[in-house]
Amino acid sequence: MRRPSSAGRPSSTGGHAPRPRAEQAEQLGFEGMPERLFVCTPSKLGAYADCPRRYRYSYVDRPAPPKGPPWAHNSLGASVHNALRSWYALAPERRRPEALTGLLRGTWVREGYRDDEQERAAYRRALGWLEAYVETLEPDTEPLGVERVVAVKTAVLAFNGRADRIDSRPGPDGPELVIVDYKTGRTGLDSDDARGSQALALYAYAAERTFRRPCRRVELHHLPTGTVAAHEHTVESLARQLSRAEETAHDIMAAEKAIADGADPDDAFPTDPSPRCGWCDYRRTCPAGSQTPGKDPWAAVEQPAEGTPAQG
Ligand code: SF4
Repeated sequence: MRRPSSAGRPSSTGGHAPRPRAEQAEQLGFEGMPERLFVCTPSKLGAYADCPRRYRYSYVDRPAPPKGPPWAHNSLGASVHNALRSWYALAPERRRPEALTGLLRGTWVREGYRDDEQERAAYRRALGWLEAYVETLEPDTEPLGVERVVAVKTAVLAFNGRADRIDSRPGPDGPELVIVDYKTGRTGLDSDDARGSQALALYAYAAERTFRRPCRRVELHHLPTGTVAAHEHTVESLARQLSRAEETAHDIMAAEKAIADGADPDDAFPTDPSPRCGWCDYRRTCPAGSQTPGKDPWAAVEQPAEGTPAQG
């Protein structure tokens, strides 16, 4: 679950705190002028909420600092997602469990594993997850979208994101949409994870407007355990998540503006050290992260570990 935006977060080096955007507008005499929209994805918002410095390394600094090596858990997650996308690309009569071996082989991402033996074990595990998962799918039910991009504009955001799956299911007043997100991490998930996921809420908000149908239910499908963690949003809870995303966007725009006005970029985007640093792509660049022992690229597919990153 992502933490709230870092609005008001003190600078780690005691420098200037970015000023609120509303205050800037007042000082510059721009009231009433349309503000530029903040173009974002769930990953972009999540990166800032996790750590403003990581956001800067990913989205502001150009050239971007070098990343660490690829992670095996990302490869595993991508392989499973790709195989499920390929599954739905098959004609319904060809969606048989025996097709999965070819689908997973065809989309397998090899990077990050310690050795061939570990990679083979991960492949067998992933195939088992997929075989069990497709048994739970309704053979005659076609999703409304698979890896479908949904987008929406608000007064602050131009949001777009790719939902793993969007289902259309019968509701009391007609078809309703459901956002489905596949998860392959080591730890199980519960309804609090589904409720707290800003990404899922924004997908639901955007899908409702894209398809002009109610979309309140969000589901995390955790393939390793075969469990589904679900939450039914309300108009109000979606609005709250949207409002938090807009606050994060304001914080980011204020920090970018502060740099443009001459602030030290290290002050505008402070570090936020946590157990996640061991998994951060920019640990070697970051002054806080470089003091944290790094994880092996395959650590998250080997054993449960503190701060293990979420796997999509
Ligand atoms: S190493 Fe830690 S503090 Fe540094 S950018 Fe990454 S997450 Fe942030």
